[in-house]
Amino acid sequence: RPAVGVLALQGAVREHVAMLEGAGARAVPVRRPAELAQVDGLVLPGGESTTMSRLLETFELLEPLREAIAGGLPAFGSCAGMILLARQVLDGRPDQQQLGGLDVVVRRNAFGRQVDSFEADLPFAGVPGGPLHAVFIRAPWVEKAGGGVEVLATVPDPDDPPDGPRADRIVAVRQGAVVATAFHPEITRDERVHRLFVELVRKA
Ligand code: GLN
Repeated sequence: RPAVGVLALQGAVREHVAMLEGAGARAVPVRRPAELAQVDGLVLPGGESTTMSRLLETFELLEPLREAIAGGLPAFGSCAGMILLARQVLDGRPDQQQLGGLDVVVRRNAFGRQVDSFEADLPFAGVPGGPLHAVFIRAPWVEKAGGGVEVLATVPDPDDPPDGPRADRIVAVRQGAVVATAFHPEITRDERVHRLFVELVRKA
């Protein structure tokens, strides 16, 4: 079984651990550089990206993690994790740090104007068995994606007027071995996104 770390500074750590174990990985909480060095892939959970960014600095994980991801460590970020993996964040804090790994610009709390949290059933590229139930909690969206980024899922913008122009918002992406979802697959019973990631870790 591949060893898949879960960044355990803050956020939905236990949920990811349980999903990874169910998806055939050995899940390892990661709080120190030495623990990071032992894993074949890493999950960045949902939570609060500004807090996580600060804790990454406090725990001296920011640089090691940047290097590991630049060096090809497979990574999966959900929600706040997606924000951390992005090259750039809009509506972030000025001192918020980015890990890189995804050539995307994300907008933080993007769905926050009318709908803080919502659920939707979304077709998701690369997972078998039909749409995925997606739970969005003060979620970001991907505002811009580079040419090397594959869009895995989109959702109609809930703020669009019913009779006006509609915009589909990008809410899941993959670039090489880095995957990110604006929603939280870890809080459903559906292990398919985690299986997809564990498969990427196996192949890497
Ligand atoms: N709004 C949070 C942030 O900016 C993300 C929310 C989440 O992870 N559920 O980090």
